[in-house]
Amino acid sequence: MRSNITLLSLLLLVSQALPAQVSLRYEQNQSLPWDEAIEAYSTLAEQYDEARLRVAGTTDVGKPLHTFIISRDRLFEPGQVHRAGKRVVFINNGIHPGESCGIDASIELAMKLLSGEPGYREMLDHTVVVMVPVFNIGGALNRSPFNRANQNGPEEHGFRGNARNLDLNRDFVKMDSRNAASLVRLLTDWQPDLLLDTHSTNGADIPYTVTLISTHPLQLEKPQARFLEETLLPEVYGAMQETPYPAIPYSHGYWSTPEEGIFGGIQYPRYLCGYASFLNTFSFTVEIHMFKPYPDRVKATRITLEEMLKLANRHHEELAGIREKSEQLRSERKDFVLQWEMDTTRYDLWNYTGYRAKYRVSDLTGQRRLYYDRDDTWQEEVPYYNYFNPAIRVTAPEYYIVPQAWRHVIDRLEWSGITMEHLPADTVLEVEAYYLEEFETTERPYNGHYWHSGVQVRKEVQTVRLYEGDVMVPLDQPASALIVQMLEPQGYDSFFSWNFFDAVLSRKEYFSPYIFESKARQLLDADPEMREAFEQKKDEDEEFASSGYTQLQWIYFRSPYSEKTYRRYPVYRLNR
Ligand SMILES: [Zn+2]
Repeated sequence: MRSNITLLSLLLLVSQALPAQVSLRYEQNQSLPWDEAIEAYSTLAEQYDEARLRVAGTTDVGKPLHTFIISRDRLFEPGQVHRAGKRVVFINNGIHPGESCGIDASIELAMKLLSGEPGYREMLDHTVVVMVPVFNIGGALNRSPFNRANQNGPEEHGFRGNARNLDLNRDFVKMDSRNAASLVRLLTDWQPDLLLDTHSTNGADIPYTVTLISTHPLQLEKPQARFLEETLLPEVYGAMQETPYPAIPYSHGYWSTPEEGIFGGIQYPRYLCGYASFLNTFSFTVEIHMFKPYPDRVKATRITLEEMLKLANRHHEELAGIREKSEQLRSERKDFVLQWEMDTTRYDLWNYTGYRAKYRVSDLTGQRRLYYDRDDTWQEEVPYYNYFNPAIRVTAPEYYIVPQAWRHVIDRLEWSGITMEHLPADTVLEVEAYYLEEFETTERPYNGHYWHSGVQVRKEVQTVRLYEGDVMVPLDQPASALIVQMLEPQGYDSFFSWNFFDAVLSRKEYFSPYIFESKARQLLDADPEMREAFEQKKDEDEEFASSGYTQLQWIYFRSPYSEKTYRRYPVYRLNR
């Protein structure tokens, strides 16, 4: 009897040591739905002490956002991990849930890392892996076979819009979604060294399965930029070359065929990877080609993540050193680029294998249509356009002052981990203020906003009244590039461009012509120069001369009654 009990305990022990019962179905062209994905991670977390499944915030659909953390040293708090000098590799999945490869690939990667499969354990020597199983949960719950017209499987998959129909990969400044607010706080806590966001591409039909968008070296300070150009990118593409899935840079040239070249890009912080790049994190959007069979897409994603993880592990010391140096340089930087433009006169050459782009008359539309002939491959060097010049630059002040009235802006700065000070008392300060002279606005809403661009400003030194608790944002901090991009109105992804300050774009006070007329007369009498300009305009401008209202308005706008706050950008620049 006694020996039977021992045998039973032994069997129990053995069963506990077996790999957890997690089954993926990607080989059958199926992706795991959100609840099954969370169940899989939950099973792994129960099975292995080296993993934790945590609730890490909320999402618009009301379901919790999870993280799955893998640490061989069992360090699961960001503070512990940073103190131990471990590098953080952060993997985000399902920002576009129809592009589900990463959701399945990350579960498989977690299983391999935890079960101690040969070659995997050492990937965790110096790194901690933080995974977001599914980021856009609302979109993931909205499953259908019809969400991706251009994609080859899986049978059912999620939808791009989240529960509020937002594209979350355009939401990282405005943070309309709870999802983005939760993830930004996670990035603030974890401060990843490497961020990987998994997607599937649209675009040209190409033989490659893996395409990558990386942080652009121009977005980084020298030590990090050099490492990216000389080590990280060559090693990533080199390592992928040795796998069944060689990688190439993603082309932003949606309008072109690969023969015309590869068009690089710089991601602004509306994108997750752009946002992280502005915070000195090496970021990769892993774009897996949509026409490849789903099993291949999942494996290619996993292998890409593995190569990145190996790289972070191999260069762990260097990564720590260059980040520290770069953050120091960022804190000291004064000049920033707000917008870049591609320099199409400069390019490198990339050895490329492609399917020949051909045209024929469509028997459906009767029009010329593009197709790629997979039986006609070509190999040649194509131009890789990845040089950019600054289009708009700015010198940063020592501080931006954000009056507390603009709390939605302050919330987002806070979630982004930006250091802020508060005015200790009501005061009056001399500051630089911008007037928003010109801008364009999209005719139809874009991702929930009427986005502004082409912003022109005029700067004025003014004395403004400020109040206890108003926020001062110092620029001598590692996040300075993000602060400048978000708070300068000419930033491509500024809070201004995303409508946070639209209230200053309309007047609040006005005048009644019949009452103002006598005041207008007094104003002109008291100011001969204005009077002369007025008379001259009346002589030269027929339309002006024929409208009494326009004439009074002209005087009103030049009078002390005209509000100073109209079109004045309400974030000030302070140098002491
Ligand atoms: Zn995508």
